[in-house]
Amino acid sequence: MRKILLLLLAWFVVSGGISYAQRTAVKLTPQKQNKVAQDITQNAPLRKCGTMEYLAKQEAENPSLIQSRLDFEEFTENWIKNNQEYLNNENKAVVTIPVVVHVVGTATVQNFAIDARVTEQITILNTDYAGQNTHSMASFATNLKANTELQFCLAQRKPDGTATNGINRVTTTTSTYSTNNLVKTHAPAWDPTKYMNIWVCNLGTSLCGYAQFPSSGINSTYGVVIHYNYFGLTGSTGYPYNLGATTTHEIGHCFNLYHIWGDDGGSCSGTDYCTDTPNQADANYDQWTGVHTDACTTTSPGIMYMNFMDYSPDITMSNFTPNQKVRIQALFASGGALYSMTQNNLGCVPPGGTSVPTVTTTAASAITNTTATSGGNVTADGGATVTARGICFATTQNPTTSNTVVNSGTGTGTFTSNLTGLTLATTYYVRAFATNTNGTAYGNQVTFTTTGGTTTGCDTTNLMTSGLPWYSFACGNNSYGDLAKANYYASSTSGQTIQDIGVDFIYAVGTTGTATISVWSNAGANGSPGTVLGSKTVTLSTISTDVNNATTTWIHLSSPVTLSGPCYVGVTLPTVAGDTAVILADTSATFSYNVAWEQWDGGLWYTFNDPNVDSWGIAAALGIYPIICDPTTTVTVPTLTTSAATTITNTTATCGGNVTSDGGGTVTARGVCWGTSTNPLVTGLHTTNGTGTGTFTSNLTGLTTNTTYFARAYATNSAGTAYGNQITFTTTSVGIDVTGLDQAIKIYPNPSSSNVYINLGKYSIENVNVYVYDALGKEIIVDKKINSEIVTYNFTNQSNGLYFIYVSTPDGNIVKKISINK
Ligand SMILES: [Zn+2]
Repeated sequence: MRKILLLLLAWFVVSGGISYAQRTAVKLTPQKQNKVAQDITQNAPLRKCGTMEYLAKQEAENPSLIQSRLDFEEFTENWIKNNQEYLNNENKAVVTIPVVVHVVGTATVQNFAIDARVTEQITILNTDYAGQNTHSMASFATNLKANTELQFCLAQRKPDGTATNGINRVTTTTSTYSTNNLVKTHAPAWDPTKYMNIWVCNLGTSLCGYAQFPSSGINSTYGVVIHYNYFGLTGSTGYPYNLGATTTHEIGHCFNLYHIWGDDGGSCSGTDYCTDTPNQADANYDQWTGVHTDACTTTSPGIMYMNFMDYSPDITMSNFTPNQKVRIQALFASGGALYSMTQNNLGCVPPGGTSVPTVTTTAASAITNTTATSGGNVTADGGATVTARGICFATTQNPTTSNTVVNSGTGTGTFTSNLTGLTLATTYYVRAFATNTNGTAYGNQVTFTTTGGTTTGCDTTNLMTSGLPWYSFACGNNSYGDLAKANYYASSTSGQTIQDIGVDFIYAVGTTGTATISVWSNAGANGSPGTVLGSKTVTLSTISTDVNNATTTWIHLSSPVTLSGPCYVGVTLPTVAGDTAVILADTSATFSYNVAWEQWDGGLWYTFNDPNVDSWGIAAALGIYPIICDPTTTVTVPTLTTSAATTITNTTATCGGNVTSDGGGTVTARGVCWGTSTNPLVTGLHTTNGTGTGTFTSNLTGLTTNTTYFARAYATNSAGTAYGNQITFTTTSVGIDVTGLDQAIKIYPNPSSSNVYINLGKYSIENVNVYVYDALGKEIIVDKKINSEIVTYNFTNQSNGLYFIYVSTPDGNIVKKISINK
């Protein structure tokens, strides 16, 4: 929604200030007072999380922690800035964190937090952190429910390597614990760099739990403390905190998430450092449904009361957002505070047991038209030798080893993998993999687009901006369903071609999904955009990245569009709630009639004919400015394969090839070159067999008998000559038959219906070699170093027809023709 965008912009401006003011008292509405009454009845307090008070206490005692927190936030911000793709569809490898649950306290606590409660809670954590919680998102887009790529297991081995069920029971006489960390003295933490420590105890009547932020140190007090009455799912777990969300919330703090309302005591100035959570005044305690607004967010979809970092009843809590997810992921990245959790961590594996390896994927680099470099890092072998590792890639998401694979050694550690044979101007998806006896594990997906065919050498003399203002207008999909924005290009002429289009977006939010950049004819009603002449989709994450880098978003149409006159160029946005992108270059421009058009949800196009009705409230000028170039496709050498040699005689053979890609240029020559040395070139002996792509056959003549040749198909275009794979073959020989040899070796019966026998006579101990060819010269039997008098070959599975049996002895060779007749 346009006005929402303005509000968002305004919010970005005012939310620069950070407040850690503590919420002092909850101002209770009558409804909340009723809730209190209800809760008292049910022996449950209003949700109270002690984390921010605990943080304040820590920082008061040790002021250096304040700087530590600010440094921490700077690292997080920078990491997110450099890893924008994780805000969208790019996922990191799933990290599974070993958990130890210390159940500490009297028999009451022990009898309540039984093993089944613990197991329930781990299941809830895995559901919530995987984005699988099924509670309602009300009016919010479903893509705001992120999979954090984190999972949890009850530890299977202790830090000392011995077995455990991940539950550490310590019976004490302490009836009530508090935020003073006594519970962590009664049950000391397991190595916090490898385990998530959860202490379950009695926290009295006003506290559901508390956590330690990672900025305070990954130390013996790092972890969460949960009131036993709100831990797990069944038993007498206290409503309204009976569905395990307290632990999800507190671990969120451990993962550097702040309360969604920004802990600003009800003002709209605090922040949770997330751009995709609406500004919110204060904590929610009620079981809201549908759109709920407050003083800081007054319009739909309202405040995100279902976020795990709010205080809502468990039945209401539903999601972490993509921004919250990426804050969490920054912790587990190299240099992050919890990176150690991902390194050789066997806490989830029983002693002596093994698991699949852990591997991450290296971002692509050295990207050319047809090659790129990636690789990975096998950070843990899972306790078993890594027998294969490398990368797999494809033009579709989440490639596996059934796609194209580049093997890159064995074992743990980093490796580099070179991708070759790629297609220019194409997007690829890459994942590292590592295999041991337990299976194959994959790293995070990375993506890149090969160069070529885009803007290199763009012909700026053909920019179709002549006579147009270099101004743009706001563009975004929104709750009133605008589908597309397009700009009219009056100066384009018949016969002109368009293949590359650049659009400057200046703002992007809601970066999930794809937009489509299109060229339309002007043949629609009243001169509006008509037929789509060409288009290409682009991910909103790409647009978002371009916005952040202040660069133009370029697309390359798969084939050039030839215009018949004026046209439209513009963007179709996904139909998701919320603003998605803005094209806006200059807010001071004057109106120009019939330049900018927008398509409403009914599919009809309307011109912008009055800047005053621009519902953004911006006196925006009316025209986007795609930069359009003539095709500048970079030509690469062709791609081809060589076919195997057939019909081999003493002096001739048949070969050929298949030109599978012309590299973007016309193939002007093709054929096969050959020689007696490896890697023959077209400058030597060669055939010429036409032009263009596809298969061709080549007849090689003038060969020498009984000689081994090497051959390669070739194809030439303006970029040069490319060669196919090398094949090899040996010409036959009948010229050195020795008198007597023919009598010494008997081949029978002829014709035969099944078995053919060769009696080698005196050559039976002479390491004779036998080759059998069919009538087309295809080798069907090779039998070397024979050391028996009679050898038998069964032709039952061969076709009827003539076969040549070639026997090579130290005294010479014979070839005999036999007929198979079944
Ligand atoms: Zn909290």
